[in-house]
Amino acid sequence: MSRRVRSLSKLISVAKPCLLNQADAGIVSQTRSPTINFVLGGPGVGKGTQCARIAETYGFTHLSVGDLLRKDISSNSVYGDMILETITKGKIVSSEVTVILLKSAIESSQTDRFLIDGFPRSEENRVAYEQLIGIEPEVVLFFDCNEEEMMKRVLHRNQGRVDDNIDTTKERLRVFEAYSLPVIRYYSQKGKLHKINATGTEDEIFKRLRPIFAT
Ligand code: AMP
Repeated sequence: MSRRVRSLSKLISVAKPCLLNQADAGIVSQTRSPTINFVLGGPGVGKGTQCARIAETYGFTHLSVGDLLRKDISSNSVYGDMILETITKGKIVSSEVTVILLKSAIESSQTDRFLIDGFPRSEENRVAYEQLIGIEPEVVLFFDCNEEEMMKRVLHRNQGRVDDNIDTTKERLRVFEAYSLPVIRYYSQKGKLHKINATGTEDEIFKRLRPIFAT
């Protein structure tokens, strides 16, 4: 077993009991208190592109949970096959794996300001995050766009992704509605949500973000 797989397995064996134990909340925050912002939106909405611009302009580290999962597949981790199968079907990867990868990425970063792209994607994700990481997000961005446009953008991009096809994208859209919209409603009720109109050019969309970050 590689060192990377051993360390992920060890983290999971440590994390599972923690998920059941509220008293262990906030492991990261006991030593550091990074600023966390979440970024949500359906497939093809342009989260990644805008996150890269926000990160560069306003000094954040951009962590895409989809990228962390794809990296884990390429590193031949013990969870690689399960992650690949889940992504290929357009479903959501288990929170135990996802939150542990995210926690590990935050802890190994030298920086303290994060844009977490594609997270939390479900209420299960959100609860696991609160139990294992426990840092309240400052801002939650929701990029909003109609499904027809999202489907068009996914099918027009050419990144060689296993999930950028009609059938998987239909499922990703269904999963987004069923699992991510409740999270969006949760943060809206908490007054943290910034809904961004994600139609228009990259520049037009970025302009709409400036008032949130240029303070
Ligand atoms: P993305 O790169 O954000 O389009 O995500 C691609 C795929 O990775 C999703 O369709 C899910 O299968 C998986 N994924 C990304 N983020 C998460 C997450 N927060 N929780 C579980 N699965 C995720």
